[in-house]
This record gives sequence, structure tokens and C-alpha cells, in this order.
Amino acid sequence: MDDLFLKNLNCLACKNDFQSSKVRRSKYSVIKVDTDFCTYYRGENPLFYNTNICPHCGYGFTENFRTPGEKAREAIANQISPFSLDFSGRRNLDLAVLANKRAVECAQLQNEKDILKASLYLQVAWFYRIEGDEEAEKIYLEEARHFYSEAFEKDKEITNIGRVLYLLGDLNRRLGNDKEAIFYLGRVINDKTINDPGIIRMARERWQDIRED
Ligand SMILES: [Zn+2]
Repeated sequence: MDDLFLKNLNCLACKNDFQSSKVRRSKYSVIKVDTDFCTYYRGENPLFYNTNICPHCGYGFTENFRTPGEKAREAIANQISPFSLDFSGRRNLDLAVLANKRAVECAQLQNEKDILKASLYLQVAWFYRIEGDEEAEKIYLEEARHFYSEAFEKDKEITNIGRVLYLLGDLNRRLGNDKEAIFYLGRVINDKTINDPGIIRMARERWQDIRED
């Protein structure tokens, strides 16, 4: 088990301490990255361990979560129950998916940003893609697309708007919505306020992919 180590954590909801496994940085390397940033690793997938699940109350969170306020903590205590499964050790696909779905539930209960929910669902889509389950992958790509779109429409504080627009373009392309894909990729290419050359180059490539299909 020496590719994993136990990290000490404190639950943001019930405040109890617990431990959860993480992958040692020296024990994995990147094999390749897809156009939507889905990353394939040699060794254990570190993304399987991103979401912490509190064994005491069942709260699921990542390092990007805010500490829930009193009202949200009450809602979490009322609506979330601890799992009977052990999330602290090695995780398979099922545990990784369950962990991220629980984190989205908790994110909803504490009104976290849509972009956070989008990235949790995008990871679930990646887990299924790596496993070769295209049908399940599509379901979660659609969930991710929905929340990125909500973020784009409603969240005025998005810092990496170029990346969000690019992902909306690529996720729509992957879901077969070419018209929407072209709309968002066009925004990345033509919006003068986006000055991320890497993202603009990738948007041009995806635009080309659609034309060649
Ligand atoms: Zn807890």
C-alpha cells in the first residue's frame, strides 16, 4: 500500500477528525491528457482520492469547499447520512464515483458555486471514460455541461472564463451539440478579453475538429 499515505483531515461540517488516503506524488505520472483535460495516469489515479468523505457524518468535500455556515450544517446533518462503506483506504471506480456524487450533494446543500459542481461531475465522466463506459460518461458530461453553463450565465466572479468557455465548447462537441460547441469556441477565439494563448489555440483545434467531422 506504499503508493498511498494517510492524510489527517478535519470535517468542515461535524468538525470531527478523520484520515483519508491520498496518492504519493512520486507514485504516479501522467500518460496523456484529453481535449477536456481528462488525465490518464500510470499508477493509482490521484483524482479518485480528491473528495474526502467524513466517516462520522458522511459529508463529502474537496479542498475547494468553503466551510458551511450554521444553516447549511443543519441541512447537511438532516439530509446526509454516513456511508457504511469505507472510503479511507484504496478506492475503486465505484467508491470514487460515490465520493464525488456525495460532494455534489453537499455542494448543493451549502450553495457552493456551480463551477465546483461542474468540475466534480466532469471528473466522474472522466472516471467512466477511462473505464470505457461511454454511456455513463455521457450522463456525467451532460451534468458537467449543465453546471458550466449555469456558471457562465450566473457567476460574475469566474476568474478563468476562457477555460470555462473552452470546456463548454468541448463538452458540447463531445455530446454532439455542434452548434453550441461552435458558439462557445468562437467566443474563446474572438473575445478580446481572453488572453490565454494555450486555450485560444485549443479552441481553434476543436473548431477544426468539428469542421473535419
Ligand atoms: Zn463530518
